This record gives sequence, structure tokens and C-alpha cells, in this order.
Amino acid sequence: MDKKSILNLNLKELEQILIDWQQEKFHALQIFSWIYKKGIKDFEKMSDLSVLLRKKLKENFSIFDLELIKEIKSVDGTKKLLFKLKDGNTIEAVNIATERRITGCVSTQVGCKFACKFCASGLLGFKRNLETAEIIEQVLFLKEKAKRLNNLVFMGIGEPLDNYDNVLKAIRIINSPAGLNIGARKITLSSAGFIPGIKRLVSEGLQIELAISLHAGDDKTRSFLMPLNKKYPLQELLAVIKEYIKKTKRQITFEYILIDGVNSSISEAEKLSKLLKDLNCKVNLIPCNPVKEIGFLPAKKMDILLFKDRLLKSGIKVTVRMPRGEDIQAACGQLRLESR
Ligand code: SF4
Repeated sequence: MDKKSILNLNLKELEQILIDWQQEKFHALQIFSWIYKKGIKDFEKMSDLSVLLRKKLKENFSIFDLELIKEIKSVDGTKKLLFKLKDGNTIEAVNIATERRITGCVSTQVGCKFACKFCASGLLGFKRNLETAEIIEQVLFLKEKAKRLNNLVFMGIGEPLDNYDNVLKAIRIINSPAGLNIGARKITLSSAGFIPGIKRLVSEGLQIELAISLHAGDDKTRSFLMPLNKKYPLQELLAVIKEYIKKTKRQITFEYILIDGVNSSISEAEKLSKLLKDLNCKVNLIPCNPVKEIGFLPAKKMDILLFKDRLLKSGIKVTVRMPRGEDIQAACGQLRLESR
């Protein structure tokens, strides 16, 4: 039988297992320290544990199950990792490098149910949810590749809120002082607008950042780009987001990919301004990464500037995020698509 990864366990669960084994529960903290602080991948090397306990851990758990099968580096420093899972499926994680920081981007599902038009992940359909351990392990790999990784985004393959329990558990372990201790405000969860998940998130009491992929200011364009909008249309989504902002007192980020000839005209900017007026939010404009299977092209520079200007005039905070790693297909799902 396949052993379960110990990375699926939070500190309390590991303590309980040790108690069940008639061991001292403080060993859980030592094990966490070996894995999350020292990056040790082998129970044998956990030298402050008894030989007996190491043996028992080895018999019952694995630590690292992902196999790194491809690693490519962009000229801009962005690094993309392709992993094979135990069941043979593949997922990707990326270290996005900018001058000031390195941001890790992880996947949460094998494939995705939602088939957004601009996204390579949706093209292959949905296979399964990732386990908590498979999510955490990506972060451990990314940290190994970039020691100064200090931000984390759940923006890779999959809709994080559609794998709610595993993702939230991973976030809590990553955020905990005994785990990776990455500050909640350095963690961004990006959702395509999966309303049931946003509703649940309201009461978690987590200080993480929430980003919503919007990509259109009207239902027609949004449903064309993101079919899940037919089930969760803009007015309903905005109502839930208003509630989220009210209850959590957090600012929301809206991601808006600018696609030439689709959603980047000044009239689209006007619709968006109307929709977001008076909301505690920020808009990230992102010229789309070209994905050759889909045929979308990034908006023209002048259109991006005009779009940004129109939002600013409505008092909306705006940043323009230039795509990273274009030469290595860093848009989510692209490497996985290429490697089929
Ligand atoms: S953008 Fe996100 S929600 Fe849409 S298909 Fe891609 S992974 Fe799924």
C-alpha cells in the first residue's frame, strides 16, 4: 500500500499520532523543524529522534513524493518546474523573479474544470484535486531553488477554492510558525470567482490576500472568456465580494488580463470602472501571455495606457504587471500542455 505523505499533517495531527504511538508529542515539533526549517527529506537524517521512532515514521509515511522532471529558466530569471506526481500526472510551479522579490506560484489541482479561454490549464480538462502534501511540496521545492522566496501565490493550475479543504490546510501549515512561517499577507489566493469558496473564506479569519480574476466588466464578455461566469455572474460575484470586504476589512485585488480585440477597449474600461466604483480594491492589469493553442494576443501598449488611465480617473488603484517568463511559457498550464 502507498504510504501517505507526512506533509498532509498539521502539527496537532502529528502530535496525536505520536501520542497514539506512545511517544512524546514534542517530537512533532522536531520533525516539523527538520522538514520545514532544514529541508531534510529523509527520516534517517533526523538525528535527534530515536532509531525506533525514525523507523516507525519511515514505515508509515513518505516525505517527498513529487519528482522534478523539467526545470527551465527564463532570461528574466523566472524559473518553471514541472513535476510528476505519484500517479503519473504532471503539475507545474513557478518562481517569478522581479528586481525586488521572488514570488512562488503553485498549482492546486491536476487540470481545471473551468476552461477559461485564455488559460492553457483549462484545455486539458480536470483530473483531480491535489492533496495538501502535494501543494506544500511544491513550495518546499521552490524554496530550495530560491532561498529568498518571500511571497507565494495560489495562481497555478486549478481553481484553489474548488479544492477548498486541502488548499486551506496547506496555507495554514505554510503560514504557521512551526511550518514554513510565510506571513499571511505574503500569501495570495487567486480565484476565478468561485462563489461558494469565497463565502466560506469570509469566516476563516485568515489575513491572506484574495485576488479575483475578473477580465471583463460585463457578463457577455466574461462568460465568453470564463464559462463559470454563467453560473456565477458578475452581480452575484460582486455582492459576495462586497460582503467579504465588509466582514474581513481586507482590500481585494482584481486581476484583468488585457487581450487585444477582446476586452481592452476604452468602453470595456468604462464598464469596469462602473462596476468597481466605491469598492475597496486594486486592479492588476496584465497584458496576456500569448498561448499559441488559443490564439489570443496581448493588448497594444497604447490601449493598456488608455485603459489604465480610465480606471485611475474613476479613483481606482491600478498597477500594470508585465508578463514574466514569456520565453519559457510561464502562463499557467503551458509547460504541462507542451509536455504531453
Ligand atoms: S484561469 Fe484558473 S479557473 Fe480558469 S481554467 Fe485556468 S486554472 Fe482554471
